[in-house]
Amino acid sequence: ALKFKRKPAWLKVKFPSGENFTKVRGVVNDNKLHTICQSGGCPNIGECWNAGTASFMILGNTCTRACKFCNVNTGRPDAVDIGEPKRVAEAILKMKIKHAVITSVDRDELADCGSTAWANTIRVVKKMNPNLTLETLIPDFKGVEENIQRIVDEAPTVVSHNQETVRRLSPSVRPQSKYDRSLFVLKYLKENGMRTKTGIMLGLGEEFDEILETMHDLRSVGCDIITIGQYLRPSQKHLPVQRFVTPQEFLQLRDEGYKMGFDYVESGPMIRSSYHSEKQTIPGYGI
Ligand code: SF4
Ligand code: SF4
Repeated sequence: ALKFKRKPAWLKVKFPSGENFTKVRGVVNDNKLHTICQSGGCPNIGECWNAGTASFMILGNTCTRACKFCNVNTGRPDAVDIGEPKRVAEAILKMKIKHAVITSVDRDELADCGSTAWANTIRVVKKMNPNLTLETLIPDFKGVEENIQRIVDEAPTVVSHNQETVRRLSPSVRPQSKYDRSLFVLKYLKENGMRTKTGIMLGLGEEFDEILETMHDLRSVGCDIITIGQYLRPSQKHLPVQRFVTPQEFLQLRDEGYKMGFDYVESGPMIRSSYHSEKQTIPGYGI
């Protein structure tokens, strides 16, 4: 692990404030919604919320899994809130946003892993916001095709599922998930006509060649979009940062990504999976 805890200059962020930031926070709180921007401690919150973009987290804020990098609480989640789809849809309407990202905790305790509630949310959100472009960042739904198909049936603009890390580190970084199962989810989505996206974090101890190997694996299942960012430790209970990857190395990976045939690559220290998500809805925009 790093000897020096201080973050390099390129990772410093301003404390979030601003008129729109306050307004978005009001809408989020009034509708009793959760955002990954808050619970994930995302460093871009000031920029995104001021631009009127937020990443909603549905199905509660307690997850059945305990990934070693993630700041979301683990435990037994509350019952599914059937009023949630409408509240998410209304919040998107009130915030007048053109592009939304929706994600969720994993609900492994439910027979359908929460996929029916997911489908309901997409349907209600699209109905109330017909011109909206929507990215849905979904769990692996235990790799069950029937569950993934429920999302495909609602046809979000982009469907993402995060690979998170390289093959070797996957069992220790996300013990209840599987490297190959995540690849399968992306493969299934692509084969069924979705525009697909994934995200990985760097700084967990992966080697450069392993990053390239993972990017190749993702291309082999036709993944269209990739985000590559720096892992930041949410607390002392989480995995330590092994290194801060330099901005130059992120740029190099972006170039490699385009060479491999990704349609859109976001690669940089502050990149989070929902950052600049609105630009990725248009095929070819990034090239
Ligand atoms: Fe929220 Fe995503 Fe922006 Fe972070 S990058 S503040 S999670 S919308
Ligand atoms: Fe966090 Fe998702 Fe892992 Fe749950 S499954 S602990 S929300 S990264």
